[in-house]
Amino acid sequence: MSHFIPQTDLQQICDFARQNEANNDRFKTFLSEKNDAEVDELVQELDALISPTISCTDCGNCCKSLMVCLNEGEATALAGHLNQTREAFDAEYLEKGSNGMMIMNRMPCPFLADNKCTVYEYRFEGCREFPALHLPHFKRRLFTTFMHYDRCPIIFNVVEQIKERMDFK
Ligand code: SF4
Ligand code: SF4
Repeated sequence: MSHFIPQTDLQQICDFARQNEANNDRFKTFLSEKNDAEVDELVQELDALISPTISCTDCGNCCKSLMVCLNEGEATALAGHLNQTREAFDAEYLEKGSNGMMIMNRMPCPFLADNKCTVYEYRFEGCREFPALHLPHFKRRLFTTFMHYDRCPIIFNVVEQIKERMDFK
C-alpha cells in the first residue's frame, strides 16, 4: 500500500463496474458472511489509507449524483444563510415525501459550482458523512455503498483493496 496509486478516472471506474457486476454481486454475498467487526476494521483501515490519496475537490461526483437528504434543522440553517424564508427555500430546492423525508429536488446539487460546495459550512450531514466508510456497520450499508461503487473513486478503490486483502477472486 505504500506506493498505492488510486484509480480516479471516472470513465474507467464506470466501465470496470459495468464489466464486474457479477463479481461484485458475489463479493457482497462473500462479505455478508464475514464477521462484522473484522470487516469494519479492514474498511476503516483502508479508508484512512486511501481517502487522503484522492482529491474530492477534483472529483465532486457525489454532489452530481447523490440523492441528498436533509432534515428540518439543516433546511432552516441553510435558508437563513441564503437570506431566504423557509417557504421560498423549500419551494426552490426541496421535494418532500409523505413520510416527512426531504430531498434536494434536482441533480447535480444546485449548490455545486466549479466542483466545489458553495455552502460548505451549511452542507448536510449526508454530505459530510459520504461515503461513510469511517462509520461502523459497513455491512448494513452494502446496498448504498455499492450503489456508488461506479461513481465514487474512494468507494471503488477501497472495495477493490478489500477484495485483495481478503483474497477474493
Ligand atoms: S450541499 Fe454541498 S456537499 Fe452537499 S451535495 Fe450539495 S454541493 Fe455537495
Ligand atoms: S466522496 Fe467520492 S464521489 Fe464524492 S468527491 Fe470524494 S471521491 Fe468523488
